[in-house]
Amino acid sequence: MAAQRVAEDVAKGTKQTARVRVAVRLRPYMHMQDPKGEGACVRRLDTETLEIINWRNATETLQYQFDVFHGEETTQQEVFLSSVKPILPHLLKGQNASVFAYGPTGAGKTHTMLGSQEQPGVIPRAVRGVFNLVKAKEREHEGWDYSIGMSYLEIYNEKVLDLLSPSAQDLPIREDKDRNILIPGLTHTPLSSFSNFHSHFIPASLNRTTASTKLNQRSSRSHAILLIKVVRTQRNPPHRQQTGKLYLVDLAGSEDNRRTGNKGIRLKESGAINLSLFTLSKVVDSLNAGGGGRVPYRDSKLTRLLQDSLGGSSHSVMITNIAPEYTYYFETFTALNFAAKSKQIVNKPFIRETVTVPSVQVKRSREEQEAGRSGEP
Ligand code: ADP
Ligand code: MG
Repeated sequence: MAAQRVAEDVAKGTKQTARVRVAVRLRPYMHMQDPKGEGACVRRLDTETLEIINWRNATETLQYQFDVFHGEETTQQEVFLSSVKPILPHLLKGQNASVFAYGPTGAGKTHTMLGSQEQPGVIPRAVRGVFNLVKAKEREHEGWDYSIGMSYLEIYNEKVLDLLSPSAQDLPIREDKDRNILIPGLTHTPLSSFSNFHSHFIPASLNRTTASTKLNQRSSRSHAILLIKVVRTQRNPPHRQQTGKLYLVDLAGSEDNRRTGNKGIRLKESGAINLSLFTLSKVVDSLNAGGGGRVPYRDSKLTRLLQDSLGGSSHSVMITNIAPEYTYYFETFTALNFAAKSKQIVNKPFIRETVTVPSVQVKRSREEQEAGRSGEP
């Protein structure tokens, strides 16, 4: 009923769809994450469905369905084409969008969002894509001037911190009369080209991910948020102006840090991470239920910040990253239950396929080993 009402509202133009599209990406099996040599416990069934062994009852598997399921062989390019490229044109029409990577530490969020030089992820591809779209529009001469800019921030312990001009200051989140969310004081850097973006973004993101161990642990405990803003202005009167915002978010690890025995400051962080992720899951649930009920954006900094770019008339994609090894079993369940459209218990044994290790040499950095799931102090 609710879905039908939303569809009717959309047809009448009175309400826009607010669903968050949910994709799940399984990273390749890694030997070093499987010291007991148990193989994988998750596998792809088709482009929307996966199955995971039910270890409470080995005669059962659980099948989960999503909007899209990307198996372990999926390339960076395929993830971008299917989940991100289609939403970029909306930014040039003054609409907002957001892309999140969700999942436990070690499951591939940063690989998906940032990637590497050889395998660039969603962020460099999306920014390049926005520049290309703007260039194409300018060639059409339809009378609009475009400008592109960026901000880069992190939410750590429910504090909003500027990564382009680092200081310990917690920035406020405000809403203007048109319900746009603003962060007064946040650095906004105009961008002239993709290489210009690169030169601002890479040092800031390296700061966040490869410095000391202490900082590195932080990278799995904070939400890193890149904002790309596209402003277009009509060349002739009335000089209308429209702003489209794209948020690209590498979320904190979704593992339950309380279970890993964190104390003191770590426990406080866990509480803050869990609050933001828990609220995000409530927001996504409530948007996808489509009943028009209250969406609890204000319950955490992350969802408050994203309020104008998640749901409503914006275009949102959640890429849930999971890992196939048994060490991640419970984290995988948590992530799947957050992401699933539907779940089914099937009475049949998990089909064990020979695990062929992909030729990708997967080398975990020291950071990830130390900040990693099993090595928490
Ligand atoms: P997270 O950010 O979720 O903690 P990472 O992105 O750092 O996880 O991934 C953990 C490790 O797995 C890294 O060494 C990364 O390069 C590797 N990895 C993740 N996803 C893939 C993938 N799809 N293909 C190849 N390697 C991957
Ligand atoms: Mg990461």
